[in-house]
Amino acid sequence: MPVDTALIGALHVEYLKRRDLHSGEEHLHHTLFQTSTIDALLEGKYDGDVSFAELADRGDFGLGTFDALDGEMIALDGDFYGVRADGRAYPIGGRERTPFAVVTFFEPNLSLTLDTPMNLETLCSRLDHLVGGDASCYAVRLDGTFDHVKTRSVPRQNKPYPSLAEVVKHQPVFELREVSGSLIGFRFPLHAQGLNVAGYHFHFITSDRSAGGHVLEIGLLSGELQIDAEADLRLELPPGVALPTPDTTDAKKEALDHIERE
Ligand SMILES: [Zn+2]
Repeated sequence: MPVDTALIGALHVEYLKRRDLHSGEEHLHHTLFQTSTIDALLEGKYDGDVSFAELADRGDFGLGTFDALDGEMIALDGDFYGVRADGRAYPIGGRERTPFAVVTFFEPNLSLTLDTPMNLETLCSRLDHLVGGDASCYAVRLDGTFDHVKTRSVPRQNKPYPSLAEVVKHQPVFELREVSGSLIGFRFPLHAQGLNVAGYHFHFITSDRSAGGHVLEIGLLSGELQIDAEADLRLELPPGVALPTPDTTDAKKEALDHIERE
C-alpha cells in the first residue's frame, strides 16, 4: 500500500491507519509516533483509538491523554501513568486506549546539568539556545528538584463531548511544593501547528510516581537535562480525523496558548 508522506519543517511525516500498526516492529531510532492531531483533540475527538499496548511498541517516553479525556498521560522509562482529575498518578494497563498521544524511544543526543534556578520560560529559552533554529522537533527530559511545580489535569468527559477550550475552563490545578521528579516533553516547530502543539509542551511526574500533570509553571532548583533530536514522525489518523491544515496564524496560536499554557 502506498504510504502518504509529507515534510513538516525538518520532520519527515508518514501517515498511517490503525490497521497498519503491527506489533513486534523493530524499534525505530529518533522517530516519533503520534496518534491523532492536536486539532482533533481541540474539537472534542476524545474517543480512544490506539491501545497502550500498541503505544508501548512504539515508544517508552511521551505524553498524551486517555479515552474520554480522562486525565494527563506520562510515559517514562517504558512505564505509562495517568494523572487523573484528583492530581494523583495511576499506572495504566495495556488495554486502555488513547485519543491523542506522542511517544518515542528516548535516546538523548545531548545531556547537561542545570544548576541554576529557573522558571519554565527561562528553561524554554535555554532549550531554544541549546538546539538552535526552529525547524526541528525534540524530545526533552529533565530530572530535577523543584521548589514548586504547577500542573493541571482534565476530568473525564461525557458525550456529546465539549471542546477542549470548554473543558479547561473547569480544569483542576495543583501546586506541588519542594518536589523531585521528571519533566517529559516535546518541542514542535511552528510548521507543525495543528498537528501538535508548536513550541514546548511538558507533563510532570514526581520521583515516587504519585502525582503530576500537564505543566503550567515550574520553579526548578537543579536537574539533569537530556535532549533527543527527532527526524521522523509516524502519524496514525483515527477514523474521522483528517490531515491537519497548516494554520500558523496568531489567532490559532493564542487559542492554543490559552488551552495549554494558562
Ligand atoms: Zn498536556
